[in-house]
Formats: sequence, C-alpha cells, structure tokens
Amino acid sequence: MKIDVQLCGLAINLVLLYFIIKHESVGLFSEKVFKLCIAVYTSCVVLDILSIVVIAYDTKYPDMVVMAVCKLYLCLIVTTGFCGFFYTYSDILHLRENDMMKKGLLGFLAFGCFCIIALPVKYHHEGSTIYTYGAGVIATYIFAAIFIVCTIICTYKYAKHMSLHRRRAIRAWMYIEIVAAVIQFFNPEQLIVGFASSLGLFILYSELENPEVYHDRLAGCFSRDTFSMYIKQVYADIRKFSSIIVCNSDEWKMEEEQARRILVSMAEFLGSFGEAKLFRLDANDFVLIYDKKEQEMNEIESAVNLDIIRQRFSKGWGTDEPVITKFLYIPNNSTVSSQEEYIALYQRYRDSFEADEISKTLDETAGERIREFNQMKQEIKNALKEERIEVFYQPIYSIETEKFVSAEALARMRGKDGKLVMPGKFIPVAEETGLISAIGERVFEMTCKCIKERNLVEMGVHYVEVNLSVAQCENPELSAIYDEIMKKIDLKPEYINLEITESSTLSQRSILLDNMNKLMNIGCSFSLDDFGTGESNLNYIVDMPVKIVKFDRSMIQDYFSNDRAKVVMKATVGMIKELGLKIVAEGVETEEQVEGIKALGIDYIQGFYFSKPLSTNDFVKFIETKNAS
Ligand code: C2E
Ligand code: MG
Ligand code: MG
Repeated sequence: MKIDVQLCGLAINLVLLYFIIKHESVGLFSEKVFKLCIAVYTSCVVLDILSIVVIAYDTKYPDMVVMAVCKLYLCLIVTTGFCGFFYTYSDILHLRENDMMKKGLLGFLAFGCFCIIALPVKYHHEGSTIYTYGAGVIATYIFAAIFIVCTIICTYKYAKHMSLHRRRAIRAWMYIEIVAAVIQFFNPEQLIVGFASSLGLFILYSELENPEVYHDRLAGCFSRDTFSMYIKQVYADIRKFSSIIVCNSDEWKMEEEQARRILVSMAEFLGSFGEAKLFRLDANDFVLIYDKKEQEMNEIESAVNLDIIRQRFSKGWGTDEPVITKFLYIPNNSTVSSQEEYIALYQRYRDSFEADEISKTLDETAGERIREFNQMKQEIKNALKEERIEVFYQPIYSIETEKFVSAEALARMRGKDGKLVMPGKFIPVAEETGLISAIGERVFEMTCKCIKERNLVEMGVHYVEVNLSVAQCENPELSAIYDEIMKKIDLKPEYINLEITESSTLSQRSILLDNMNKLMNIGCSFSLDDFGTGESNLNYIVDMPVKIVKFDRSMIQDYFSNDRAKVVMKATVGMIKELGLKIVAEGVETEEQVEGIKALGIDYIQGFYFSKPLSTNDFVKFIETKNAS
C-alpha cells in the first residue's frame, strides 16, 4: 500500500489549517471561502487515504463499505472543483449576490455527486498498485473538469474584478490540478490528484490568503488595504457598524524609533478592546470597528470605549512633545452609503477640528454634507468636460479718471438646467478637491481671449484682474503655464493683474514668490485680494510685491457702520498709500458709500453701485456706453 504522496498532501493541508486558525480573521468573504476550501481539501485527502486502505484490506471490509468510501472520495474531488469556482467568484460581487447562481451551482454539484453514486465504480488492486476506474470515475473527471474550466474562464471574463496577482494565483492553482488530473487519467496507478490539490491550495495561501497580508507590519493590527476590502464588503452586504477613528497629528516631533514605539503601544492599547477590529489607516491614524449583529450593542460598546480611549490618550505617550490626537466617532455607518463616502467622510472631517475640540460625532448631517460635496465635485468635473465654466466681468471704476479702467474676472458654472451656479457654491469644493487649478486655468484663458478678441484695451480697460487660488500659487509650473497661455493667445502680460489672497494654508511661500517674480518679469502685476478679512494683515503687504490692495466688502461695510473701524481704515489707507500702492474698494453698493470712499483717497471702486458682474457681451456693451461718455 503506497500512501506517501497522500500523506504529504495531508501534511501540507494540516500546516495551512494551523496557520489559518492561529491568526485573527477580519471576516472577509474570500477568507471564509478559503477556510471552507481547506476543510474540503483536507477531507478529500483523508478519504483518498481511507479509500486506499479499504481497498488494500478489502477482504476485511464488506463491499458496501469499500464502495461507499471510494464514492465519497470521488464526490469530494468534485466538491474541491466546486470550491475553486466558489472561491473565485466570491470576488465578483454580482455573482456572489445572485441567488439563482448559488442554487444552480449547488444543484450542479448535487447532480455530479448523484451521477458518481449511481454509476458503477470498480477498483484495481494488484500488489501495491491501487486505483479506481469505471463510469463513476469518468463522471468525476468530467464534473471536476467543468468546475476547473469555469474557474479559469471566470478569471478571464471577470478580469476587471480581480487584481492580476489574484488571477494569476488562481490560474496557477487550477493548472496544477489539470496537469495532475491528466497524468492520473492516463496512468491510473499514479494517485497524485489529491497531492496536487494541496499544492494548489498552498500556492493560494502563500500568494493570497496568508493572514500576514491582511496585517500592518509595524502596528500588527489589520492594514489600510484590508480596511478598504473590509468596508467594501460590509457596504455590499448592507451590514451596520460603529466606528471610532483615532486621528493622530501628521507630524510627530521625535526620533523615528520613538515614533514607531508609540505607534506599537497605541495599536496594542486599541487592540485590547474585545471584539472590535482594529485597522491602521493612512499615516498614524487608526480605526476601531464594532460590527456585532445588533447595531444597538455596537453603539453602546463604542460609546463606552471612546471615553476610555480618550482618557488613555490624554495621559500622553511619555514624550516631551505631546502627540496630538483627535477622535472621529461614527455611531452608525449608514450615515453614508458606500465605502467611497465613508473614506470621504473621514478625509473631510479629519482636519476640521477646532483647536480645543477633541472628538466629533459624525451623524446624518455630516453624511448629507458629504453627499452634497461629492455631487458638486462630480458636477464641476462634468462642467469642465462639457465646457460649462463661464467668466463674468465686474467693472472697476477709477475715481481719478472717472472711467472704468479695469474689471475682475469671476468664474461662473452653468448648470445642466441652464441656471448659473455662483462661486460661493462650487469654489470651496473645487479648492478642496484640487479642481480649482483646472477652473483657474480655464478662467484665465477665457479672460485672455476676451481681452484680445473684444479689444478691451482700446475701450479703456487697461487690465483685467484674475483670481488665483492658493493651490495654484503653490504649483511651481504656474508661471510657465500662464506664460504659455498668453503667448498662445498673443496677449501682452501687462493686461493681466493676478489677485492673490493671504492664507494660513499656504505652506510654500517660496514657490508663490518664485511664480510672482517670473510673471512680473514678463509684465504681469499682482493685487492682494480680501484685505481686511480675518486672514490678512499689514505685514503681508510689506512682504509681497503687490501693486494693488483690494479692501474686502466687509471692511467697507464696517467703515460706514462703525466709528472705530473708521479710524483704523483711515490709518490703513494712509499707510498703504505711503507704500506707493493703489487701493480698490470692493462691495460698494450706495451713492453715499461712493462719496465716502472718494473722500478717503481710495483709487478704485468695484461694487454693485456701478454694476454687478456681467456676461462678456453685457460687459462689452457696458464699457462701450460708459467709457464713451
Ligand atoms: P472676490 O475675488 O473677492 O470677488 C468679489 C466678489 O464680491 C464677487 O463675488 C462679486 O460679485 C462680489 N461683489 C462685488 N461687489 C459687490 C457688492 O457691491 N455687493 C455684494 N454683495 N457683492 C459684491 P462672486 O463672483 O460670487 O465671487 C466670490 C468669490 O469666489 C471671489 O471673491 C473669489 O474669491 C472666488 N472666485 C470667483 N471666481 C474665481 C476664480 O476664477 N478663481 C478663484 N480661485 N476664485 C474665484
Ligand atoms: Mg477677487
Ligand atoms: Mg475680494
């Protein structure tokens, strides 16, 4: 009796079983199916061995027992084929959710087993050579082959649902089984199918199902990738969970070694919360997921744990510079409806804490905001693609010449319904998503074309002011891009004045200055926009090579309603004038305000009193009429 090959297969399966049981599982569908595969494959090898034993000692056992063991073994071979297919299609959501498909597959497996049981199976026993043959064995080959071929087809047909790595590993597993089956079919005494299956399973384990691949190397908890797979599955299965996101400040002022030690300590502490699953997110963040069946229990448990966690984190981690940690608490994940929205929720609120705020609860309102945000993001992308970004121009009046000597270019988005969307609605979303650069370039190009094609300069408009966003200022390529646009349109850079704003989020002031210098060298000029709002101060004017300062509407309103503001305004105007800069007053709405501004010594006025922002045609008509008189 020769069972060495089978024993090797069994040994492989038992080792895999040990490692799989030893590791904590995150509960992904593919993990569960892989466990089922190991169970079936192990039973198959055990029955392979048993069938050889009962055939070798057939005189000791009744015929029925020998046949039952042999047929059960053959049925398990078909079941291993089924498992391969089941594992593969577990990656493909719409197949996994298809009930008919599941029932059909199980029915086909049952039919295969029925054929094996009903058809005759014979065995050959001569010395140490033992094998089975007959119609039942041929049926086994046919059904197993169908499953294997279907699995391979699946990896090609649904290639987009699986990574290349996954497809390759599954195909390798199947090809090994095919080669072994062909060898055994033509040499029935070579019983290698069981061993080949174990080998295939081992490949799958080492390539795809090794529990280590789900873990974060440093922290030891589940990794960021596992988190993505996990929540994708949870949303697909419409399950509920509560979560606590631990947001650690981005930069830790300490040695790398110490930072690593703290991360490990945090992971150990957070990992000690019973059944909650711990994942490491980007950088130093963690998320704890409570996903018991009863959502109420999840909410209670997570709320209690949040208090304990906050207490522990408030004690610090033994460093001189404290690690600043904030907490996002999401009692119920159905606040948002997909994995993408959950990630967007986390990314959006992660950096939105007030200085003294330690934790924030994200509920329905936060979810609603995320949905609106995502809709607007999509709408901006479509508008850019479908060229629905327009430019309106607001005339700027010169007190000295009593003419409209410039204008500000202001972006508008034309909705699909033809209505205009104002910047207040889409600019903040564009800024947060980085789409502002594309909008800025589009507005700039359209403005350049307008100046050139409509001969604005001849009509007395010396230059047009175009807004620059912080993100654009931080782009080292900005000056080159704008220079190229002006060259393409053949527009003199003197006709362009770019508006910058002071912003605490500007992290690369050197890049902004570099861009400004390059653009000024070719002839552009700069204004400082939004002066007088929270973010601006006089120092900025000293540092930045701007020619014009634009007083924000709020500052103008204050001037006319508040006596103390009047004093400050007068002094500010004096200082700015002494620096040799020009001033634009924005948001001037009444005649009384116009007179007041004139008396102050301000140079230009921009406001609804003269005109609201106008479409290109209306603006050209406006200038033609007003500047002619
Ligand atoms: P801003 O650059 O300070 O532009 C002036 C805003 O004040 C314009 O609003 C204008 O319509 C409004 N305004 C002017 N005079 C009056 C007035 O008398 N009364 C009132 N109530 N408002 C007045 P708008 O067009 O809604 O733009 C808002 C902001 O959106 C702009 O403020 C600017 O920060 C941003 N923005 C607009 N277009 C662009 C663009 O192309 N790129 C960038 N980065 N930002 C833009
Ligand atoms: Mg502006
Ligand atoms: Mg402004």
